[in-house]
Formats: sequence, C-alpha cells, structure tokens
Amino acid sequence: MTAKIKIIMLGTGSHIPSVKKNHTAVLLCYEGENILVDCGEGTQRQFRYAKLNPCKITRLLITHWHGDHVLGIPGILQTLALSDYRKTLFIYGPSGTKLLMRALLNLFNFKQKYKIKVEEVDKGKFVDEKNFYLESEKMEHGISCNAYSFVKKGQVRIDKEKLKKAKLDQGPHLSKLKQGKDIKYKSKKYLAKNLTYTEGDKKISIVMDTLDNKKIIPFVKGADLLICESSFNDAFKDKAREYHHSTAKQVANNAKKANAKKLVLTHLSGRWDKNPQKILNEAKKVFKNSVLAKDLDVFGV
Ligand SMILES: [Zn+2]
Ligand SMILES: [Zn+2]
Repeated sequence: MTAKIKIIMLGTGSHIPSVKKNHTAVLLCYEGENILVDCGEGTQRQFRYAKLNPCKITRLLITHWHGDHVLGIPGILQTLALSDYRKTLFIYGPSGTKLLMRALLNLFNFKQKYKIKVEEVDKGKFVDEKNFYLESEKMEHGISCNAYSFVKKGQVRIDKEKLKKAKLDQGPHLSKLKQGKDIKYKSKKYLAKNLTYTEGDKKISIVMDTLDNKKIIPFVKGADLLICESSFNDAFKDKAREYHHSTAKQVANNAKKANAKKLVLTHLSGRWDKNPQKILNEAKKVFKNSVLAKDLDVFGV
C-alpha cells in the first residue's frame, strides 16, 4: 500500500481571525513527518480541534514574518517544552528568520528542553530524504517571503497481478525487484520491467501571500495539490498589487498554466466572508478543479 499524504487546513483566514477562520496554518502529514507550514495565532488549538497533538510536529516552514503567519509560534514552542518534546525541531524560513527566531525565543521565559535548528532558505531543495524532498522559491510580498513544495519521490512498485500471472511466490527474493533489478528464482530469470511499475512523484505546493509573479508557474509545475492565497478578486486587482497579494483569477491562471490537478483557495480577505463563492466562481471560470478551503478541511494526495 502506498502511504498517503494528508493535508489539514488548520487555519484558512487572513489578517484578522474570525469565529470560523483561524490565522494561516497548513499541516502536511506523510509517514512519520508532520510538517507545519505557517503557524498563525491559535494554531495549537486548531491541532486539538483536528484531534491532533501539536507535539507530533517534525518541521515548521515559515513563508514570511507577518503576524497572521507566525503569531502562534511561541505558544506551540511552549507547549512542546511543557510536553517533554524530545526531538529536534527544524524550522525553515526566508532570510531574517534566524534573527527573528532568536528575538522571539528571548521574549518568553520558558525552559526549552529540546533542540531547535533554524535554517534560512530561499531557492531550491533544502531537505532531501529517501522518500521525499522539500523545496522553496522566493516570492514577492514586500518582505522576505517563500513558497514551498513537498515532493514525494516516485518509487518502483511490484505489480501484484503480474506477479500472480508469473506464478512467482512472495518472499525476500522480491527485494531486488523493488530496486528495479532483474532476479533469478528457482533457476528462472524474471525481468523487473515485466513485473514492476514506477509510481509518479506526488507534489503539494503552497503559495501564500505574494504578488502574482513569473516564478510561480515553474515552481508549482505539475502539482497534484496547489494551495494558494486568494485575498482578492479581479475587481480588486489594483489593491492586490498595492498590498502584494493575489487575485482568484491570477492563481487560477497559474494553476492552469502549471498543469496542476487541484487548486485550493485560502487566505481570503474578510470582505468575502459573506460571499466567498464570488472568489470560487472567478477561479472556476479559469480552472475548473478549484475549491475553497475551510478550517479543518482535509485533503489527501
Ligand atoms: Zn503577509
Ligand atoms: Zn497573510
């Protein structure tokens, strides 16, 4: 069975949280990894509402240092300390993150019994594990800002039907097949290409606050799930430019041109609280498979 990637929209609001919308936070779970992208105020309670323990976090990715994306960090750090978190917490963010993290840790008086490793990232791969990697790209938001992608690496899988037809037993002799190598079993040769298939990569891209820009399409190319801020609609495109944000039409255009499979719209400005459908309809006109995110929505890839 292929391990699924689960994405939980812990917070889908904009600058000011509301009853229904918390500040921004997206949690990505894959095997033992629980990667939190942004941590707005109240994020640790959103974990509880989602019936998840914030101590499961393995990495925190910060898109930028506006309050609606980072004000929840001290609270979570304190909870980890009080809960005997024993792992090293890896924190990644745009330039300036090291200094800001140090300032933030100095503001509060709590016993930090675990290690925090802070790394500043801008463009390219910054984590490369056996089964997945993480990469970032610089965005345009008036302050240092990153977009992030999680890519699960495609793996060689054994085709069980073909295995049955070839009358090949299960067992340790199959391990070489899983590496894409031919095997010899009971003096008969079996070719890997006849019994296996290569599963494609799976990609989740998260593009939070940013002005529409040319770097987005190549960065999110082929994303299975594309999560984008959509603060405004086309009627407010001048305002979007002024505040370095995006419109529904712009993000839908990017999703289409990048050949994304699904677009999730989040971080809508509070002015759409009564009629978020307006944003969704604008996106759908350009990119059909668009959805609006609500707090605690779960997506599987
Ligand atoms: Zn911002
Ligand atoms: Zn924001």
